[in-house]
Amino acid sequence: MAESPISVFDRLVNAGPPAPGVTRTTVDTACVLGGSIAGLLAARVLADHARQVIVVERDETGTDGRPRAGVPQDQQVHSLLPGGRLWIERWLPGFTREAQDLGAVLATPEQSLTCLDGRPQAPGAAHALLGASRPFLESRLRARVLALPNVSAVRSRATGLTYRDGAVSGVRHTTDHGEEVLAADFVVDAMGRSSRLAEWVHADGYDKPRLERLASGIHYASALFERSTQAEDLSAACALAVYSPPYPRGGTAVAAVNAIEDNKWLALLVGFGEDRPGRSVEDFRAVCEELPPVYQEAARGAAVREVVTYRQADSRRRGFSGLERFPARLVSVGDAVASFNPVYGQGMSSAALHASCLAEFLEGGPRLDRGAEEFFRLQDVVVDAAWAVSAGGDAARLDAENGVEVPEEVRQQRWALQQVIGATVVDGDVAQAFNQVSFMLRHPFTLADPHLLERAVAANGAPASGGR
Ligand SMILES: Cc1cc2nc3c(=O)[nH]c(=O)nc-3n(C[C@H](O)[C@H](O)[C@H](O)COP(=O)(O)OP(=O)(O)OC[C@H]3O[C@@H](n4cnc5c(N)ncnc54)[C@H](O)[C@@H]3O)c2cc1C
Repeated sequence: MAESPISVFDRLVNAGPPAPGVTRTTVDTACVLGGSIAGLLAARVLADHARQVIVVERDETGTDGRPRAGVPQDQQVHSLLPGGRLWIERWLPGFTREAQDLGAVLATPEQSLTCLDGRPQAPGAAHALLGASRPFLESRLRARVLALPNVSAVRSRATGLTYRDGAVSGVRHTTDHGEEVLAADFVVDAMGRSSRLAEWVHADGYDKPRLERLASGIHYASALFERSTQAEDLSAACALAVYSPPYPRGGTAVAAVNAIEDNKWLALLVGFGEDRPGRSVEDFRAVCEELPPVYQEAARGAAVREVVTYRQADSRRRGFSGLERFPARLVSVGDAVASFNPVYGQGMSSAALHASCLAEFLEGGPRLDRGAEEFFRLQDVVVDAAWAVSAGGDAARLDAENGVEVPEEVRQQRWALQQVIGATVVDGDVAQAFNQVSFMLRHPFTLADPHLLERAVAANGAPASGGR
């Protein structure tokens, strides 16, 4: 009998590195294309299985946490969900402590506040959340991964692949001297949402992974404020507020503030469709005035820079499993495979779980003379889980906005999820179950438990079936 997605997900979330001494070198040179979060985490895993790992990144990168062109979203609030952070902590022990020593803020459950329509989530459901900027997190990961003795980085732009006997044999890349080929017997595509890998392999005669898109029409605006030292006494170092219509000031659906390194507050306002958060610091402050006190406190400090906006039109996923002709020794991870509505904060944790898939695949002593189907099947479990949460939420919102009649089964599922979400402000156990899923610690199917639904319905005082 096939293993359930719940148990595969549990295993991937809780995986750790191989015990010392039992590590087996499976490949000689592994090459990772893209040196961002997904690429660095894949490199960490590959370091246990390859003689050498080379990370090819087109941007100049360092460990000083500076923003860079290849990651245009890096000025926006990035929450590292507990599912991702705990995985990273296992594979790079001490990561959280080091980040804290350099100024990142680990908000305890008591210092975290999650509100739904202005009502705080029931107590006892939160996890510690690490507050840091995206460039800071990436730079800390880079410092740790490049410190591994068999991992190195090359600054260059990958332009294609070479093959031998149906397997990848190298990476074409441009250098100051023109195009060169880097010999590699295992290649990981971590080139992000705009990866051209699908086009490359298709042009080389292999099957093209299917691309699926779902509109998300999301507008982000992030602002950075000075955080006074007295602010450390504040009850929330990390806060998330989710609003159903009518939104405050007619447009903001989600708002978040995180205390981050260098004594700053990084604050985010999100709108959907025609609803755009303000572009000026004054607009930003005006919205925060209508939110819980921690938002007002965060926006009171001096603004460190102008508000930075970002628009993402859609969520995307590429289907690699089940392709008849795909090169051996080649996999894809991170946003290159699936990038979601960022409001759900799943990207970096998904990247960690894709690296977990890679670890399980390589530890299983795979056949490397054919496409990495076992890897892609594991990865589908992770992508399906994240997609169910984010694309499921977007589809429900868009269908409601456009008056779309959905099948009865889908209507029941959405009603059940609304019951669970609604009950998170009154029942700590329901909130705990919901957070485990939204923090990528458990698979969303765990929310389909009839006892949980019964409890949520009772907590909400709603009728026992999904009445209209
Ligand atoms: C507005 C916004 C907010 C977000 N908020 C969150 C959040 O709160 N929490 C969260 O977990 N995630 C969030 N995400 C998602 C997160 O940014 C990504 O999931 C995360 O960066 C991992 O991406 P990646 O490493 O796969 O790709 P990317 O970070 O996009 O990196 C791709 C890398 O590949 C390099 N590259 C590309 N092409 C080439 C080439 N040809 N040769 C060499 N190098 C190349 C690029 O320079 C870049 O370094 C957010 C995303 C957006 C857009």
